Amino acid sequence: MPGPFCKLADPAAYRATWDLTQDAHFREVFLDFFRTQYPTLLKFAVQAAIARGADPSEAQARADHCQTEFFHRLDRYAADPARHGPTTILTIDHWRDGLLREHGFADPFIDLKSRENAAATKILPEVCRAIDALEEPAQVRAIIEGVFAGNIFDMGSDATARRFGERGPDFFATRAKIPPRPWLIDDFDALARRWLTRPYRKAVIFVDNAGSDYLLGILPLARWLARHGGRGGGPIPVVLAGNQLPTLNDMTAADMRAGWPVVLEAEPSLRDLPISIVSTGTSEPLIDLASVSDELNAAADDADLVILEGMGRGIESNLHARFTCDALNIAMLKFPAVAQWLGGQMYDVVCRFR
Ligand code: MG
Repeated sequence: MPGPFCKLADPAAYRATWDLTQDAHFREVFLDFFRTQYPTLLKFAVQAAIARGADPSEAQARADHCQTEFFHRLDRYAADPARHGPTTILTIDHWRDGLLREHGFADPFIDLKSRENAAATKILPEVCRAIDALEEPAQVRAIIEGVFAGNIFDMGSDATARRFGERGPDFFATRAKIPPRPWLIDDFDALARRWLTRPYRKAVIFVDNAGSDYLLGILPLARWLARHGGRGGGPIPVVLAGNQLPTLNDMTAADMRAGWPVVLEAEPSLRDLPISIVSTGTSEPLIDLASVSDELNAAADDADLVILEGMGRGIESNLHARFTCDALNIAMLKFPAVAQWLGGQMYDVVCRFR
């Protein structure tokens, strides 16, 4: 039975994200965002369907119908929010992805994810060698900056989707342009102090997007923690937690499992590390930790480090979540209203460590 994430400090008081019914400003911002995003999503959905043998005009008609239904649902909510009760970004994610699935578009970005995964896999060894060549304290800075840079590949952000719809992001160019410290939220010194002194038992990483995000940000982080997190006491287990079903360009647990042999072939140093993959049981770009899979809870039970990566999992939800162990919220901001909410700008970065 799905239940609250076992590392939540106070499951009864936990709220994943805020209620748009009570917040006219963000309601307008997000309704506009979801409306603007849908045509892009459906364009990719139709392309993916055609690539799998669907008739082009049939697939387009299905997409048009899907969009009409989604927009009607948004209109009904916008016309009378109070009647709908509590409604969050997660609720609208359910509407959006539920309708896509109903209309036969289960994974609109499947081909884009594959293309970006293949491109990033080729660069993974270079990224790992560059980290290994550094002194240990500098390695921590490099892996954190690598997570920021990888996180720019995000089809859930209008700004980055338009930038990267046709051509993948350049990981190295993005990393070179990360804002100087102090970052918008900057607990890096506390993180480095903790990571470089005392051992961890086990880490759980909530994974966000495919491509550079997973392969060049998260895998080097997981590799470093598995190797160094035990502080001389040997490798520690690292659990990669991915969505159950596809949403936007997020990595699912199934995507990670299917790609694992290719990753090991590209970067054999990962082969002997205790890195495992679980499904969160959830299927949204944000994560509601009030209800996650037994598989995740069993794997996380003895963890003492939780990492929530990406704007959806780490900022729009769970920025204020409290855990019974160390926790890191890490992301690059790719949505103007969210950047503004935190008093920052587009492409600012957040490293919250508690
Ligand atoms: Mg994502």
